[in-house]
Amino acid sequence: MKLLQGVSASGGIVAGKVHFFQAGAKEVKKAKSKQSAPQETARLQTALAAAVAQLEALQKSSGSQLGKDSEVFAVHAMLLQDADFTDRLEELISGEGWSAEYAVQQAGQEFSESFAVLSDPYMKERAADILDAAARVLSCLQGQSCAPTDGMIEPMILAADTLFPSQTVQMDKSKILAFLTRGGAYNSHASILARTLGIPAIVNLGNNLDSLKEEDFILADGDKGIVITEPDEAALSAYHQRQAAAEQERAALAKLVEKESLSKDGRRIQLFANISTPQEAAEAKSAGAEGVGLFRSEFLFMHAAHLPSEDEQYQAYRQALENMAPAPVIIRTIDFGADKQLSCLPQKQEENPALGCRAIRLCFARPELLMVQLRALLRASAFGKLQIMFPMVATLEELLRLRSMVKKAKQDLDAAQLAYDSSVKVGIMVETPAAALASRELAAHADFFSIGTNDLTQYTLACDRMNEAVSNIFDSRNISVLRLIALTVRNAHAQGIPVGICGESAADPSLLPQYLALGVDELSMSAKRILPLRKVLLDTDSHKVDLSALAL
Ligand code: PEP
Ligand code: MG
Repeated sequence: MKLLQGVSASGGIVAGKVHFFQAGAKEVKKAKSKQSAPQETARLQTALAAAVAQLEALQKSSGSQLGKDSEVFAVHAMLLQDADFTDRLEELISGEGWSAEYAVQQAGQEFSESFAVLSDPYMKERAADILDAAARVLSCLQGQSCAPTDGMIEPMILAADTLFPSQTVQMDKSKILAFLTRGGAYNSHASILARTLGIPAIVNLGNNLDSLKEEDFILADGDKGIVITEPDEAALSAYHQRQAAAEQERAALAKLVEKESLSKDGRRIQLFANISTPQEAAEAKSAGAEGVGLFRSEFLFMHAAHLPSEDEQYQAYRQALENMAPAPVIIRTIDFGADKQLSCLPQKQEENPALGCRAIRLCFARPELLMVQLRALLRASAFGKLQIMFPMVATLEELLRLRSMVKKAKQDLDAAQLAYDSSVKVGIMVETPAAALASRELAAHADFFSIGTNDLTQYTLACDRMNEAVSNIFDSRNISVLRLIALTVRNAHAQGIPVGICGESAADPSLLPQYLALGVDELSMSAKRILPLRKVLLDTDSHKVDLSALAL
């Protein structure tokens, strides 16, 4: 038995077998084939067939989870079977003698470049798809899988160097018992996803991951951030006891679903859920959520073969609103960039993506992206209680420009005689120190604030939220972060607008007394964390909190 220490990213303990996921294909050398052309062609055909079979299976299995977006896999399969593409592969292998790997990489690049220069936006978007599909064939040639759960028959503990959001949205969540990653940090989006799913996650295991082999039976203890290899009798019996205790705790918490979110001293604070798909709104409601405080809409785009159309987006937003009705749903407009990259919208590499062209900055560079989304949101607003929220606002000018885009979207709908809620609230995330410091001016033009403490902490402490090496500095309890929150709440309330918190710290029980005493109106978190926090809330007395240290 061995204990491997990592960092806890999501609590809980499970026992199971390890499955390694190796992302992407290995580097391909420009090399001639070592065998005859017919033999190399046969290798290629096998890999192509395997890739197409994977794609067909993925399309079927993800249909219920991704809906129409599962068509991305059909598009990839079609591209791989396209005669022009397969002819070019044949020419590179039989005509020029290249290895199958090099031929796939070369043809993928050539076709991608030829799509990229087309003026039809739909065809242009195929540039990323052909690269993605070619990467799948390469992985098959090199004997590696593509989606993290491809090839898994039973639920297992998924181990990987890193997991990107685009990979996590593809996987079959019912097959994952826990996540283990070599890198990663508590605040990376894969960790957030693990907490949303309520499965244990241990990140930043570093070289410890090398002690594990495929199919090793282990205990993954997300509470302590450790992996126990070859568990002995005592470890297994402790595991069974903790499982039983967790089951009892779940049953006790379930009784709080209908209970009002009131502190011991009678303060009312709303407990909302963070979601990334419309279906999660229904799950959140049954998990005790009083509304949705953050719908990360960019996740709708992340697994799509093409940018979702106005109609497709409208359907998704409407479903989320209907699932949560009559309670409110705050939908955040697209927040791409940094660790959230899209295959359907390839972006230029940036030196500092977290400080670069992300979120609304990208929307100002490509206004049609936001206009389509705003029209879809407004149309959906006729079916529930929608609030529109903009991420990464840093200046008043940005907010005014965004408001004028909302006005324009309303005019478009008026012209088309389409219904919408004309009183829909428009607010912003306060997640840059600039927004917190300018919260007095911003509050005069916003209907609500929601503080994104993940980014607010990152930018205030100049500390990359994704980098475990500086995770000791990343602390949402830091006095500077708390002062910015205090200032934001004060300015919001002076202007009569409500303020929520939707970063990960919203679920931190140790911060709850201070948030309550500051007068925060709403806390939004992964649905699974609502009832545990409500339990703490019922027992918290905010009178006892001394806020004098936060004075500005
Ligand atoms: C935040 O920054 O706190 C937030 C909620 O947004 P995201 O984690 O998606 O950046
Ligand atoms: Mg953010």
